[in-house]
Amino acid sequence: MNDRNREERQSPKLDTRLIHFGSEVDPATGASSVPIYQASTFHHHDIFNPPTHDYSRSGNPTRQALEDYIAVLEGGVRGFAFASGMAAISSTFMLFSAGDHLIVTEDVYGGTYRLLTQILSRMNIETTFVDMTDLEAVKAALQPNTKAVYMETPSNPTLKITDIGAVAEWAREHDLISIVDNTFMTPYYQRPIEQGVDIVLHSATKFLGGHSDVLAGLAVARDDALADRLKYVQNGLGTVLGAQESWLLMRGMKTLGARMAHSEISARKLADWLARRQDIAAVYYPGLAEHPGREVQEKQSKGYGAVVSFDVGSGDRAKRVLSRVKLPLVAVSLGAVESILSYPAMMSHASMPPEVRLERGITDGLLRFSVGLEDIGDLLADLEQALEA
Ligand SMILES: *Cc1c(COP(=O)(O)O)cnc(C)c1O
Repeated sequence: MNDRNREERQSPKLDTRLIHFGSEVDPATGASSVPIYQASTFHHHDIFNPPTHDYSRSGNPTRQALEDYIAVLEGGVRGFAFASGMAAISSTFMLFSAGDHLIVTEDVYGGTYRLLTQILSRMNIETTFVDMTDLEAVKAALQPNTKAVYMETPSNPTLKITDIGAVAEWAREHDLISIVDNTFMTPYYQRPIEQGVDIVLHSATKFLGGHSDVLAGLAVARDDALADRLKYVQNGLGTVLGAQESWLLMRGMKTLGARMAHSEISARKLADWLARRQDIAAVYYPGLAEHPGREVQEKQSKGYGAVVSFDVGSGDRAKRVLSRVKLPLVAVSLGAVESILSYPAMMSHASMPPEVRLERGITDGLLRFSVGLEDIGDLLADLEQALEA
């Protein structure tokens, strides 16, 4: 059964679950938002009958509401909130031990690449990076000590599409834990657990938070055994999200559907507009008819997302565009109410050796546009004046 059929059968629908997620009304007072429990510890009224939460690293009611919220949205058994996307990712990798081997997409987020190659490698956790769009390449990377497969789709910044269900099924056959970084799609468009994946990760700093004002990470487990292991790691490492940030993130998540839907319509228009121009060397967007991953994207996702990458032909021209645009933030990050224009060659992928960068299509002319909520006519006019200057 594909995601679309599941969605149709699911009740209530995701748009409704985004608002009515279980903790939207405070049971004690009827307050219309989850209270911020700014407390590190909890009084034991009865020493023989300890409170549900006893210390905020181990559990905090505000964070708990957020953790339940993301679990409902992703269709997993339990959620976990962390201090950043990297805290969620690094904590998840702490499920593994010295001597273990991981298969990871070669287009993985730069911070995850650095964690694997510079930090986990010192702990004798070994990684093979593969082109995840090629299932045969994934299979060929299997070793006797392989423990997990780690996907990110669409990939950053060239938006390559991995077949989540196919990789997860193969992983299951080999007793590997399958993991997806679902930051770009969010559960609004893509729910990997429904495709057989074991753990879903998010940089909630991006679309889930949605306002460029909170740093956070989330993880969701498919089953109780994995959830227990993640809980143990989260509490053991202490990489938790604070109560204020938990509240702020929930505040942003309530409008995820409205924001994603609006931004995606604009992103499609931007991609079409760029594809029609003669002066753009390449456009990467999974919603374009000629995108090689479009079919897989449509099988596993309800949409194409709000990130469009395009190559303006040269580094000089890219820098001119960056200095002349007036509406988007020129910055790292993505997924906010305001559009954000990034320059991967000098920002997110600056530490990648130039030859590896070029091999991945991350040329000096490549720009990544995260489409916000501005009027699309205004965004196109702004980009046009920047391209034509
Ligand atoms: C930003 C990002 C991360 C890291 O998240 P932080 O919140 O910055 O720690 C991980 N994966 C992807 C795909 C990202 O875009």
